[in-house]
Amino acid sequence: MDIGFIGLGNMGSHMARRLVEAGHKVIVYDVRQEAIGNIAALGAVAARSPREVADAAETVMASLPTPDIVLKVATGPDGVIEGKRVRRFVDLSTTGSVMAQRIFKLLAAKNIVQIDAPVSGGVRGAAKGTVAVMASGPRAEVEAVEPALKVIGKFFYIGDRPGAGQTMKLCNNVLSAAATVSTSESFVTGVKAGLDPRVMVDVINASSGRSTATEQKFPEVVIPRSFNQGFTAGLMLKDVNLFISEAKALGVPVDAIEAVAALLKLACDELGSQCDITEVIKPIEKRAGVEVRAPAS
Ligand code: NAD
Repeated sequence: MDIGFIGLGNMGSHMARRLVEAGHKVIVYDVRQEAIGNIAALGAVAARSPREVADAAETVMASLPTPDIVLKVATGPDGVIEGKRVRRFVDLSTTGSVMAQRIFKLLAAKNIVQIDAPVSGGVRGAAKGTVAVMASGPRAEVEAVEPALKVIGKFFYIGDRPGAGQTMKLCNNVLSAAATVSTSESFVTGVKAGLDPRVMVDVINASSGRSTATEQKFPEVVIPRSFNQGFTAGLMLKDVNLFISEAKALGVPVDAIEAVAALLKLACDELGSQCDITEVIKPIEKRAGVEVRAPAS
């Protein structure tokens, strides 16, 4: 099938590559020429704008950083909405349900169906095709892209209401953010008290405190001090703030998640919003005066 793909960053580059490798004709665009060149070298077709992508394919996917950028790419001048061939816009980005519904309505006026299909599982999951894909939108249209989405990851149909997949994704991501932040506080405390963080990982992973932070982020990225998880703290803060506004609109108290947002904001303020999500531990380490690293044996 011909598939357009816009946004070839940490996640999109892998997802587009997997679609090329699965034999699809993939037409790609990014504001970074280098990103286009890398995937074109694997067999994708380069386009010069979102509109040009949407002139060439009935299905256009996107993996873009923020809700405003998705809105512009989908519905702005030279955007997907102006494409001659496009029938469905599959948004793999995390935009929140409010923006998903807004884009759904704007595109529907041009007979283009918006399907939200945010993903979870990180860059490693995108590379291996193991991310969870949380699709929502009209069932027949989602079914038309289900085989392609199964190339990207593990497919879940969340429902026909636009934005439902986005709500699902945000409910997941706040748990991941909370685990990362709370594991940071836990490990800085343990290390300052004299514990070996590698022992902490082993014990916690055999105990009730385990999570993706203790199973993967801390042993593979934090303790070796590589801080290359591949997801920025700025994007996680965006997700947590989207969750907070959706929860508040529903009248749900979110005091614990607001504390998580405050720590993410502190990391973004001190290290820049492009810092890795795992670097959220650094402001805590700075104040505690210790670093979570394996002791020199
Ligand atoms: P990224 O910043 O690495 O990639 C975004 C890409 O979009 C970049 O290549 C950038 O050049 C491109 N871009 C920006 N503006 C553009 C425009 N106007 N037109 C075309 N291209 C444009 O981000 P990412 O980490 O790949 O995340 C993408 C989306 O997936 C985000 O919504 C994020 O929240 C979500 N997500 C990320 C992860 C992760 O672990 N990185 C996991 C799950 C979901």
